[in-house]
This record gives sequence, structure tokens and C-alpha cells, in this order.
Amino acid sequence: MNNTKYVYTFGGKTAEGKADMKNLLGGKGANLAEMCLLGLPVPAGLTISTECCTAYYANNCQLPATLMDEVWKGMKNMENLMGLKYDDADHPLLVSCRSGARTSMPGMMDTVLNIGLSFKTIPGLIKKTGNPRFVYDSYRRLIMMYADVVMEKAEGIEPADGKGIRKQLDDMLDEYKEKKGYKSDTELKAEELLELAEAFKKRIKEVLGTEFPDDAKAQLEGGIKAVFKSWDGKKAIAYRRIEGIPDDWGTAVNVQSMVFGNMGDSSATGVAFTRDPATGENKFYGEWLINAQGEDVVAGIRTPNPLNDDTKNEQNKHLKSMQELMPETYKELCEIRSILEKNYHDMLDIEFTIQEGKLFMLQCRVGKRTGVASLTMAMDMMKEGLIDEKTAVLRVSPSQLDEFLHPILNQAEEKKFKVLAKGLPAGPGGAVGRIAFTSEKAMEYHKQKIANILVREETNPEDVEGMRAANGILTARGGMTSHAALVARGWGKCCIVGCDDVKIDFEAGKLEICGKSFNEGDILSLNGTKGWVYAEEIPMAKNTENPLFKEFMKIVDKYRTMGVRTNADNPEDAQTALDFGAEGIGLFRIEHMFYGKNSEKPLEKLRNMILSDTLERRKAALDELEPYIRESAKGTLKVMNGKPLTFRLMDPPLHEFVPQGEEQQRKVAKERGMKYEDLKKRVEEMHEVNPMMGLRGVRLGIIYPEITETQFRALFSATAELLKEGMDPHLEIMVPLTINVRELQNQKAIADRVHEEVQAKYGIRFNYMFGTMIEIPRAALVANQIAEVAEFFSFGTNDLTQMTFGFSRDDVNAIVHKYIDEKIIPADPFNTFDQECVGELVKLGVERGRSTRPVLKCGVCGEHGGDPASVDFFFRAGLNYVSCSPFRVPVARLAAAQAAIRNA
Ligand code: ADP
Ligand code: MG
Ligand code: MG
Repeated sequence: MNNTKYVYTFGGKTAEGKADMKNLLGGKGANLAEMCLLGLPVPAGLTISTECCTAYYANNCQLPATLMDEVWKGMKNMENLMGLKYDDADHPLLVSCRSGARTSMPGMMDTVLNIGLSFKTIPGLIKKTGNPRFVYDSYRRLIMMYADVVMEKAEGIEPADGKGIRKQLDDMLDEYKEKKGYKSDTELKAEELLELAEAFKKRIKEVLGTEFPDDAKAQLEGGIKAVFKSWDGKKAIAYRRIEGIPDDWGTAVNVQSMVFGNMGDSSATGVAFTRDPATGENKFYGEWLINAQGEDVVAGIRTPNPLNDDTKNEQNKHLKSMQELMPETYKELCEIRSILEKNYHDMLDIEFTIQEGKLFMLQCRVGKRTGVASLTMAMDMMKEGLIDEKTAVLRVSPSQLDEFLHPILNQAEEKKFKVLAKGLPAGPGGAVGRIAFTSEKAMEYHKQKIANILVREETNPEDVEGMRAANGILTARGGMTSHAALVARGWGKCCIVGCDDVKIDFEAGKLEICGKSFNEGDILSLNGTKGWVYAEEIPMAKNTENPLFKEFMKIVDKYRTMGVRTNADNPEDAQTALDFGAEGIGLFRIEHMFYGKNSEKPLEKLRNMILSDTLERRKAALDELEPYIRESAKGTLKVMNGKPLTFRLMDPPLHEFVPQGEEQQRKVAKERGMKYEDLKKRVEEMHEVNPMMGLRGVRLGIIYPEITETQFRALFSATAELLKEGMDPHLEIMVPLTINVRELQNQKAIADRVHEEVQAKYGIRFNYMFGTMIEIPRAALVANQIAEVAEFFSFGTNDLTQMTFGFSRDDVNAIVHKYIDEKIIPADPFNTFDQECVGELVKLGVERGRSTRPVLKCGVCGEHGGDPASVDFFFRAGLNYVSCSPFRVPVARLAAAQAAIRNA
């Protein structure tokens, strides 16, 4: 016999659960329990645990045998607290059946309200409330939700687009309203709602082939099963993939006594954030609707009213606020706001309902917020004494900080254009891109790396993948708490909702905004922070000089112990990185002077060198190249004055720099006064079947010592000249692709000789550091020997990953994607650092290296240096610093501080 407890009750200022039981009770259930414990007015209910969901799936989608008995017992408790009885003809209790996973999945799973209404209970409820309109309104809602969630979705029926039962019933409702000349649902009269309900039931029978159950007990059991089923629904699965939520967490089910916001004008329902989720300002922020039920506010059916003065905007300023209409209840809500923030030490997202003037809390959870809001709130709450410094540092996730630093429309440029239309500022930042009318189109653009704006009537959970792929989102309908707004804000994506002027004609594939017409593929610019839409392409800018950001980063650095350097190859990038707080350069790729802007001259010299067939000619060419390397090094050393700069010696296979293709080869041959055939032959000689594993890295310096000698001379000369100018260069020379200590001894001998020569020439003494990359597994294994010569290690995790997996960085994409789909590997190891094995090599390299040289400085360069999860690993592996691209520097600083706090 199975004795697991599956049901946890709450209500009447007490509860069997509490906030920290989210894994078992889901976020919603745990927080409902917590609100009861805080003494807040919460309608009584019960939570069926996530364990039950697991049992349900383990048992071939059957509820555990003991469950319904436990549920009916819990229902007794609710009946007692509410003074009502489920399935009772005189005093019927109605309930909602709500899903609730560990983390919130907005709109992803399904809730059914008003369960328990049947021809047995309807008359009693009418008699009790004297409000038949309310009863039949609740009834038609129950039928709509139940048919959709329980009878269609949970049965695995997949209707064609626009043919779902919910849509059909919605259309019937709209037609009925139109026939009667009603604008709003609230105008429908009692007998009309009943007539509609009957028509609904007929349609359901026709379409789905089954009857809507006129039996309260069957309704409840059906509701519970449907919530469990919804965990495996398409949209829930898609959301989990994107958010990385494991499939086996399961959802809890909450069965809760109904309270009614649709009982007339003294009833209402609403949602609020205890602070502004877009800006982070300490303002109570919310929306509400009179005479409505829960999902109405979120669904964007009517424009919701503002909660208070602070929430008024362009769209809703003509509508009455709760502060104005129900000042007493508003005050009570404000008190609850403060109790909740004090208890949770965070900003909360709440749902409430007012039944005939009485306030009930239906949900609270830590609210999603934009990057800007997260930083603003963390700093405010710290200053208010709600949280301490460490919590403030942990409160802002690296991706939120990244978002904070994300592009916005260039403000000066923006001023030059006229705002085309205004909507609600649902997601911050700016976006410029091509119009996509469907999620599919947005995904297609995204694949082609084309910036795009997803334009929709309103979004629904089916759109999540397209929303993800879009750079910005624009919807014609919906409020600040609509699906689009919640999801976009969660991702920090630029989003404007409720832009009434947007008229989409899907059939014609056209869009009209304030008389201007657009086709799919046309450009729009969005200012998501203001809610403004532009017809022009406006340049973007970055948000960095913010004083709050600087203040926050100061605290971050107070807790950070690991260094953060940058990968930069020129003075501009170096300066950008310094502005972002980089403490040095961890990787300067010498060969970058041969690519892009101003590269023609040095590239020409390099080619001369490569194409030379005798040592003498090669040396002559190198002598001409040396000043370019010296100047390049000098420029960046100057910017980095006083901070270390790690130069990596030439790494790539040389033939990357020679002309490929006949036309190019003929041109270069002519320029060099060389025969085309000779040049072609030389290029062919250099061809390698496997260049990644060929003549590159330190091997170049061993085969052609004059190549490294030139680099050493250039670097030492640059250092000497800067010293003479009174600067403070910190030169570190790094050898790539090392496999053993002999290679380093060989190269170090040359370096030391040239070092002496340069010092003598300039009449000045200075030190330099000599180190190596560890990027071949062999090098990690013999790190103890390598450390005899190397004064520092830098783990090149890109090549180390390539060599450890045997995956070619340049060719393996298709294979990796298939591997991920087949769950053979969890993620692309070039994006997500493979802690298990590549990480093991890093740890081993550090340990063995330090066994020889205890003060060995260890760092990492490569894209993983800016990835927060990897940074945490590198911290634990004992690295002295990470190095990443300039724009990732603040993120890496935050990740490093968080690692230090978490692993303390
Ligand atoms: P979601 O997880 O999608 O937010 P919810 O379970 O919170 O779904 O329910 C949807 C809407 O129904 C919410 O607005 C909620 O406040 C409302 N609601 C849920 N249960 C009740 C209830 N017992 N009484 C009144 N309104 C309810
Ligand atoms: Mg909710
Ligand atoms: Mg490498």
C-alpha cells in the first residue's frame, strides 16, 4: 500500500506547507501556504504535490489509487473553513484547479475556474447570491475552460490552427455579442449567458463527441488530471526547452475555493508588482478590472484599469484606478504589499480578487524583471536595509547585467524621428529589424541572422519560440501583464504591447500603422522602454555610463577575488575593456594585425615572408615586418599602462595568409615580381590536409625560429621604448599550442638572447614573463614539467575542447546539434564548458603546474571566460583570472563575485 502524503492543505491563517517547499508544492502552492502563514486573506485550498505528478506519469497517466480519497479529505477542510459544501444543492462550494511548477511558467499551463457548477448546484448559488447573471457568467466560463483544457488538450486532441474548441466558443461569444450590439462581455444578461452556455455544450458535443460533465465530482477529478497532463503539453515542453527546466520536475495542482471578481461593480480582479518590473522604481504597479474573473486581465480582452496614479499611462489614463474607486481596499492591498516585501526581501508579482468589496490574495511569487529593474531594485533594497550587500550582488543575474548593458536606440538619433505610434512599454531597450508576422518567419530570419520584429495581434504560448528568435516584439492588444509582456520581460527582450494603432491583415500579409502600410520584411524600430514605434531604421547605442551601474560594480568588486582580463588586439578594444573594468589583457593575438582595417601593409610583408624560399629572403621580409608588430604592440601596451598584457605568439597556419584562387595568386605574383607558377607551387607546398593539427602555434617557431625571434624583438623593443617614454608596460609573452617543456626551452633561449640584445641596445633593464597556453590535453598532463619554464598558464579552452572531444571547431556544428537532439551530449561544449572532462584537464593542469611552481599564475582565455557557469567552475579550479571579450567583462566580474560568495 502506498502511504505517500500527496495533499497539503492551506487556509484560515495556517498551512501544511510553506515558501521553501517549492520543489514539492510548486511555486504557487508553496507561496499560497506562506501567505496563509503570514495571516493574509487567502481562499482555503489544497495542493497536490509534484511527487504525485511524477507518480502519475510513472503509472501510465493514472492517478495514484489513494489520491482522490486524500483530496476529498482535504476538501472537507476547505468546506469547513468556507462554510460551504462541494456539490451541495443549497450552499455549493466552487473551486479552481490550478497548475504550479517549481518555477513559474507564465501562461504555459492550464487553469480551470468555477469547477463544481452543475444543474444540481446552480439554483442554490443563484438563491444564495441573488445574482443569476454572475452564476451564468461563471458557468459559461467553466464550460469554455473545461472544454479547452480538460476535454480537448488533456485528451491530446490537436485541432487545426484556429479550429480549437476554445477559439470556436470565443467566436460564438463574439458573434452573440455582435448580434446583440454589445461591446463588452459585461453587458450580457443572465438568460443570454445561459443560452450561450447551452449552445456551447451543444457545440462541444458536436466537435469533441463527448458531453460536458454535469457532475461536480467528475469535474474535479477531470480538472486534476488535466493539470498533470498539461505538463506534457506542447507549449509547456517548448517553454521548458528554452528555459532549461528539466522534464522530470512535474507540476503540482492547487485546488482552491473560488472567490468571485465577477459579482458586479463592487467586485474586481487584478494583478500587480510590488515595484515597477520595467524600471525597478519603488512604485506599486498594477492593473485591475471590475466585474471580471482572473484571466481577463492577463488575456488582453479589455484594456485593464490602472491600479493607482503611478500606473496611469497613455492607454489607460481615462480609466478609473482602484486607488480612486476603492480607497479602503487599495489601502489594505498596500499593506499587504509591504508585508510581502518584508517577508520575501524581494519584489513580488501578485494576483488578487475583490469579491463584493472583500480582498483576497490568490498568488504571489518573486516577480520577473528587466535587467535595469533588477539592478535598480537590488541597490534600492540594499539601501532600504531589506537585503545586505552580498544578497544585492547575488540578486542581479549575469544575464540581467548583460541585458542592462544591452543596446538601446541611440537617443540623439531617435530625437530626429517622429514617433509613428505609441503602445505600452512592456520590455525594455531598443530593437530595429524586419517585420515578421509569424513565429515561423521570426525563426527563419533569426537563422539567417537577420534582425527582426515579431508583430502580432497578441501573443500566446504557442509563439514562444518565435518571440525568442525576435529582436523585438510588437502586439496590437494586451496590457502590461499580458502573455507577451510577461515573457518578454522575463527574457529582457524589447517589447511593446497594446499598440491599438497596429492593424494587421494576415490574409493580405500587410500591416497598417496610423495610415502607413508595411509588408513583411519592412523595417521598424522600437523603443521598448517608452513604448514608441518608428517607421525608420534608427541606429542603436549602448547603456554604460550609468552611475547606478558603477555603484553596483564597486560592490561587486568588493566581493570578487578572481581577476578579470580581456581578449583584445587593438587599443580601442583595450580601452573599451578598461572602461568595463578589465584588469589586464589575457589574450592579444598578434596575427590580428593581418586582418581587417589597415592590414594591407603588414599583410603584404607577412606574405613576402611566407612566400620567401630562402632563409635570407625570409629574414629580410621579417625585418620589414618587425616595425609593424612593434607599433601594434606599443599602441595597446600604452593603453594598458601599468596593467599586464599577454601577447600570444603567431598561432594560425601560415597558409591562411597566402592568396587562394588563381585570380588572387596572379595578382600577388605580379606585385612581387614573381612568376605565377612559382607562387602557385609554393602555396601548394604549404597545403595541409589537417591544418588545425599542422604547422601552427609553437611549431612555427621551432621550424622557423626567425619568425619568433622577430616577434620577440618587436615586443621587447616596444617595451623598451615605452619605458623610455616613462610608461609602465607589463609584458607577458605566451607560447601557443605547446605539447612539452622542450618546446618552451627552445623558444625561451631565443627570447632571452633577444631580451639581452634589446636591453643592451636601449641601455635599459626590464623584466618580462614567459608563459604558455595549455590547450592540448598532453600539455595539461605534463604541466609539472612545463611549469619548470612557464611562469604562467593560460588555458585555451576552445582548442582544449576541440582536442579533448576530437571535434573540429569549424566543421562539427551539424553533428553537435544532432548529438544534442539525441541527448548524447547535454550541450555544445564550445558554448557550455565541459566541466566533466575539459574541466578535469584544467584542474589537473593547475595542480600539476603548481606542484612545480607554487606561485604559477593560471588563467583562462577563450569564449568560456565570459560564461557565468564556467566562471564559477574556474573559480573552484583555483584560477587567478579569466579573460573574455570586452563587452563580457562586467558579466565576468559579476559572475566571479557571485562565485566567491556562493563558494565561500
Ligand atoms: P496562471 O498560473 O496561468 O497565472 P492561475 O492558476 O494563477 O494561472 O489562474 C488564472 C487566473 O485565475 C488568475 O488570474 C487567478 O488569480 C485566477 N484564479 C485562480 N484561482 C482562483 C480562485 N480560486 N478564485 C478566483 N480566481 C482564481
Ligand atoms: Mg497566476
Ligand atoms: Mg588555440
